[in-house]
Amino acid sequence: MKEFDFEKMPIVEIANEIITDAVKKNASDIHFDPSKDDVKIRIRIDGILSDYSIIPAKYKRNMISRIKMIAGMNIMETRLPQDGAIKSRMGKKMLDLRVSSLPTNNGEKVVIRILDYSKSLQGLEALGLSDAAIEKIEKMIKVPNGIILVTGATGSGKSTTVYSILQKMNTDDVNIITVEDPVEMDILGINQVQAQAEIGLTFATVLRSILRQDPDIIMIGEIRDDETARIAVRASITGHKVLSTIHTNNSLNTIERLTDMEVERYLLGTALEGIISQKLARRLCTHCKVLRKTSDYEKDVFKRVFNKDVDEIYDANQDGCEHCFRGYSGRIGLYEVLNINDDIRDAITNNIKKTELRKLVYDGNTITLLEDGLQKVLDGLTSFSEILKAVDLENDLETYEEDNLKTSMDTIEENKHSEEEKTIHKSEITEIKDESEQENNEEKIDIVTPVIESEPEENINITTNLETTNIQENNNGFSIPTLNNENNNDNVFEVPKMEKVDEIPPAPVINETPKQDLEYFNF
Ligand SMILES: [Zn+2]
Repeated sequence: MKEFDFEKMPIVEIANEIITDAVKKNASDIHFDPSKDDVKIRIRIDGILSDYSIIPAKYKRNMISRIKMIAGMNIMETRLPQDGAIKSRMGKKMLDLRVSSLPTNNGEKVVIRILDYSKSLQGLEALGLSDAAIEKIEKMIKVPNGIILVTGATGSGKSTTVYSILQKMNTDDVNIITVEDPVEMDILGINQVQAQAEIGLTFATVLRSILRQDPDIIMIGEIRDDETARIAVRASITGHKVLSTIHTNNSLNTIERLTDMEVERYLLGTALEGIISQKLARRLCTHCKVLRKTSDYEKDVFKRVFNKDVDEIYDANQDGCEHCFRGYSGRIGLYEVLNINDDIRDAITNNIKKTELRKLVYDGNTITLLEDGLQKVLDGLTSFSEILKAVDLENDLETYEEDNLKTSMDTIEENKHSEEEKTIHKSEITEIKDESEQENNEEKIDIVTPVIESEPEENINITTNLETTNIQENNNGFSIPTLNNENNNDNVFEVPKMEKVDEIPPAPVINETPKQDLEYFNF
């Protein structure tokens, strides 16, 4: 675990280093978990949460206040959950950090989500889609109307795929409007609306207004309810292209889920254009992956799926190397792409049996998630255990008819469970290797503009009573430090000299906040 010298380093620098470090390691989240004694910092890399550092009790409040402050949150409010955001840049990489706080019995738990747009901007090709899959998606995009659905569990990378498709469709001659919750990425040339259910601005309400704005393409963040599904279907059959996500496992489940919703079947049959189902698997490190013999059950699975004898596959090097984290580096998408043909349209309209629908969906032309995943194992991109974790083998193998399916399935299930146990055990190993850090300007966050979601004036009141000579205010009336104090004198937020506060300003929201609360803000 990383150790910080809290005696010598100011909290501001430590907070910056934690964020910079997490971004460099390609982490998706930073957790500040309070306990009675201290705060444990954990970071999530490629879907796996690991210990990173400990903040001693003495500095607990300072650190949490610091993070909340740069996220534009109200540092005086510790009893209610809050949201904030930090927009920043590291070299050429734009970053968007979403910060949330939650009061627990041991103090506030803060989570920083690191939204990395760079993947969405690299196009569909960079996501791990096969050429055949990209061809199918391009076919869906070309049709001027119809619904394209991207499906998968939370955290399966649906948004990245949706944004990549949107980028492909984003030309000067179309009007694209989105309704999202939350808007995860600002795209130039697209009108994006943030849904806010708490004020009655639901997906359905926004959609009705969008339809009056002459849209060509509508992106709906997620189809969660019958009404949204109905509007999506109606919008698409009246000549609009609709792109959305739905929380299901594969193409077949998606069709079943939609037909279970209160949507007219004949309209749905006409509207649906394509389904892209996806999961994520960790990518093998190209520097240290190891070739090993396949086990009996792995051989069996390859034989069933590809009718091929596979004797050797690549696997992760458990010890990892300087380029990776335990043998994996980054993640790759597994995809099942389905173009809706006339037979499937008829089947949806006529409500045919699931078994028959399955045959139509997996007619030999569709590459299933399992096939795509196993192909990626053969290509040395990911490991067999990653596919076991990601894909519902039992469900998917049903499509491969075998006499001894049942016996074989039992073996596969057993192995699957033992693999899962192994993985859980592995994730208990908490050490993260320190990367040799280069003091490279490119890698430092240099401009940080906060998105203030709570009232900025209140925060200014707090700071203006202190000695804040080096703070430059931006449009929001608030400023954030750069991570490099040497070369970026513009917009630099030096550690304010807040030694003694003569007069403690009144707490902005809660008037009864005890006075000593502010003294913690004594960096
Ligand atoms: Zn490696």
